[in-house]
Amino acid sequence: MSMHSISAGTMCPLGAKYFTGDPGLGRGLVVCHCLVIESSDGLVLVDTGMGTEDMRHPYRRLGAPFKVGFGVKVDPTGTAIERIRGLGLDPADVRHIVPTHLDLDHAGGLPDFPSARVHVTADEHRVAINPSLRDRARYRHFHFDHGPRWRIHQTGAGGDRWFGFQSVRVLPGVDPEVLLIPLPGHSAGHTGVAVRDGDGWLLHCGDAYFNRCELETPPVAPKGIAAFEGIIAADNDARLANQQRLRELAAAHSDEVRLVCAHDHVELEGERTRAD
Ligand SMILES: [Zn+2]
Repeated sequence: MSMHSISAGTMCPLGAKYFTGDPGLGRGLVVCHCLVIESSDGLVLVDTGMGTEDMRHPYRRLGAPFKVGFGVKVDPTGTAIERIRGLGLDPADVRHIVPTHLDLDHAGGLPDFPSARVHVTADEHRVAINPSLRDRARYRHFHFDHGPRWRIHQTGAGGDRWFGFQSVRVLPGVDPEVLLIPLPGHSAGHTGVAVRDGDGWLLHCGDAYFNRCELETPPVAPKGIAAFEGIIAADNDARLANQQRLRELAAAHSDEVRLVCAHDHVELEGERTRAD
């Protein structure tokens, strides 16, 4: 098994100190950290970032407020499909996609892999496919119009436990193990994705937190991003509770579980350095 961390999308919002924790008030760096896993059943992609057509028509497909507000960098070579080619792998081998949720900066690459099975939670699928007026800015129909091959997973009561969290095994019989770890709050059906990595685990936390400093005790998130997380949350109480559980997991099990989120470039660089 081999696992690669890639960035499939770059954003450079103004006010670095407040939004990314980078120094100064100029543009900070926000990545879209995705995982490419060489499994016993083809390639598994965790999150997809932004896609080929998003780079061609960013204003229309992502919406002007998102494009401008987050400083989305237009880079046709910075998509998941191109990063996979860059790893020397064949994008046609992507058989499974496991998005943490279906926001535009996580689901944008779905149309680039139309034959892949897309594993989502039932709650996320429901809100993304028929979004409310408020949610239409985050769930973009362009990303679903091709008719993804959904595999919808129920995440209600029951299921196995994983370090005290509920878990759902999405690829039975496949090596490595890939688990959904429901972490609702940022969006209705938001989930972490745990991947067995040797004797330990890598938990991709999606947007359950945005900056590694939020996992510290006490958390020290850049002020702007902390406010943004609260505003965008589908359920802010659930989001805060899950973030606290992740903080406890990170503190108690750092020898067994590595945590990364989708947008912290320092975490991405750390994973790449590990792989070298
Ligand atoms: Zn995001």
